[in-house]
Amino acid sequence: MMKNVPFFNYPHLFKSHEEDFVRIFKDVGYRGAYILQKDLRDFEENLAKFAGTKYAVGLANGTDAIWIALMAAGIGKGDEVIFASHTYIATAASIHFVGAIPVPADCKEDHMIDPDSVRKLITPKTKAILPTQVNGRCCDMDELMKIAREFNLIILEDAAQGLGAKFKGNGVGTFDKGGTISFYPAKNLGSFGDAGGFVTNDKDMYEKVMLYRDHGRNDDGVFVMWGFNSRLDNLQAAILDFKLTFYSKEIERRREIAQMYQDRLGQLPQLKLPPAPNSNPDYYDVYQNYEIEAFKRDELKQHLKDNGVGTLIQWSGQPVHSITSLGFTGVGLPYTEEMFTKCLMIPMNTALTNDDVEYVCEQIVNFYN
Ligand SMILES: *Cc1c(COP(=O)(O)O)cnc(C)c1O
Repeated sequence: MMKNVPFFNYPHLFKSHEEDFVRIFKDVGYRGAYILQKDLRDFEENLAKFAGTKYAVGLANGTDAIWIALMAAGIGKGDEVIFASHTYIATAASIHFVGAIPVPADCKEDHMIDPDSVRKLITPKTKAILPTQVNGRCCDMDELMKIAREFNLIILEDAAQGLGAKFKGNGVGTFDKGGTISFYPAKNLGSFGDAGGFVTNDKDMYEKVMLYRDHGRNDDGVFVMWGFNSRLDNLQAAILDFKLTFYSKEIERRREIAQMYQDRLGQLPQLKLPPAPNSNPDYYDVYQNYEIEAFKRDELKQHLKDNGVGTLIQWSGQPVHSITSLGFTGVGLPYTEEMFTKCLMIPMNTALTNDDVEYVCEQIVNFYN
């Protein structure tokens, strides 16, 4: 029997805890607490605790978080910033909009930025590495920190997809200047609209990001520098603070689904799956996405669609360095280029039942048979 398994179930986001959300809407509404209120401060405190960082700041969205953090780190005109081409355009755009030059790097087998590629791209103008903690996995930060120390670079993590992911027991955002988070609805910790954050152990970064997000205004209401408005809405913060209380359980469910995919699809020679949970003790992955590489990718995608299963090719199928309209050359990153002829994301979210996951696997197995 045909089933409908959408890639992401947006109404489920609300329906899953409808009564709690309505209670929170009412509570915030009756208090008239919309901007920079207690719910935001509570969420920031709890977010820092969860991330294992000293500080957390709520921001308007994950893109703002990147360019504000870059500015706070002093990255600007003429600086070069190396980032993974396998990322959202927002990473590169943030570098562009602080006046710096985005330099795309290749990725490797686990789809994370390739430290060897980073090394080759370093010039005297390089100031920072901006790795993306893509698909809910944290990069091998030992390698990147080693390069950063050797060439006196800073590291800022695009952890839009990585909240809760760890490398050798340390969470995203803890490694150097901090990590930027997105709470876009389809992200692991999704809000009901645009929302973002920044987590860091760096006091100076924290203080600057706090100032940038509220017009350069300090706690006494004094304007101490130029700033903008990139505040996280208090209502979104209240929602997110509630969702954070069961976020660890949701991550565990994602890891369970990843293991199911591994068990049912791991033997297919036509597929390359993401690293399985517990396959390497250095990594704790939170599976924002489940991105496979597939033989006859486009035909598989069509077959799944015909059988009611939604899939997505990340970044509309375009790694950043292939976007020639923005001045990139489109070539020179072999792994990424090859990978983008094969990569496909299959459903990975907490609305999925075990039956849904079984069904998806069945359709994939059928296709290759
Ligand atoms: C989602 C995402 C962003 C942007 O976050 P928004 O909240 O949508 O602005 C940036 N980088 C990566 C890797 C993302 O996945």
